[in-house]
Amino acid sequence: MNNRTEQQIRIAGPCAVESINQWEQAVVGLQDHCDIIRGGVWKPRTKPGWDGLGSSALIPMFEIATKHGITPAMEVLVPEHVDEVAQAMRAVGGNSDEMMQVVVWVGSRNQNHVVQQAMGERVMNGPKSISVGIKNAPWASIDHTVGIAQHLMASGLPQDRLAWLALRGFDPSILDFIGGWNEGGVSIADTFNPDKLRNIPPTGHWVGRLQTELKRQGISVPLIADPSHIAGRADLVPGVLEHMLSTMGLDGFIAEVHPNPHEARTDARQQLSIEEFIDMLEQLDTKHLLW
Ligand code: PEP
Ligand code: MN
Repeated sequence: MNNRTEQQIRIAGPCAVESINQWEQAVVGLQDHCDIIRGGVWKPRTKPGWDGLGSSALIPMFEIATKHGITPAMEVLVPEHVDEVAQAMRAVGGNSDEMMQVVVWVGSRNQNHVVQQAMGERVMNGPKSISVGIKNAPWASIDHTVGIAQHLMASGLPQDRLAWLALRGFDPSILDFIGGWNEGGVSIADTFNPDKLRNIPPTGHWVGRLQTELKRQGISVPLIADPSHIAGRADLVPGVLEHMLSTMGLDGFIAEVHPNPHEARTDARQQLSIEEFIDMLEQLDTKHLLW
């Protein structure tokens, strides 16, 4: 694998922060296994329902993150959320050089370039220690994915504030457009029954084309796997991640891990318990897929 970052990016944590106690349990259980812990505060929902604790969770979350020396990461839905994160960072960290790090990300429902540009601008104007990731639902066109990175950087956000780009799979309706599994080479259909997966993982060929186009546009951003939103089921997550890490030259992963998956208020089926996550890491390690 040629494009490896020096250190693998390992992100784990609950789909949503449901209480400060649940967040602290996740942080304590995961802190020795990853540097970045995800926890959604604003959740996009397909239908109206519980959509996260919202901004009031930020300060207590960041205090716990600082106490344990981890970096929190969360999706932002609108540009104002970036400002709220920046404010909470300042409230917890002051304006010192020691300011905590936070990663916000543009999620799968956000296809609006005006919003993407405004988010990039607000990240740029926030503390230097906020960076932004991309976890958008890819369209079949590589340009769409590359374009999100370009929109985020349109107002001058420097490359090094682009944290990572996560591959969270294609909506199954993409099959109608691309005409089957085997286009372009390696087929995951040999490894998985695609009917079981929630989203369709990209082929190694698609990831290679994405890497080439990013390079051609002068964009350097680590590519990571989101096996949880591809698998849609906890028991399928390790296999999807192993497949992606071993065939796509990726730089890490973002996985959903919950202290009590069965009680999760969002994405309960696909979240690993902390113990299952640690077992998965041990398995990946024996296969030399961790560094
Ligand atoms: C998530 O990460 O919890 C999430 C909502 O993911 P996606 O937007 O990729 O479905
Ligand atoms: Mn989720």
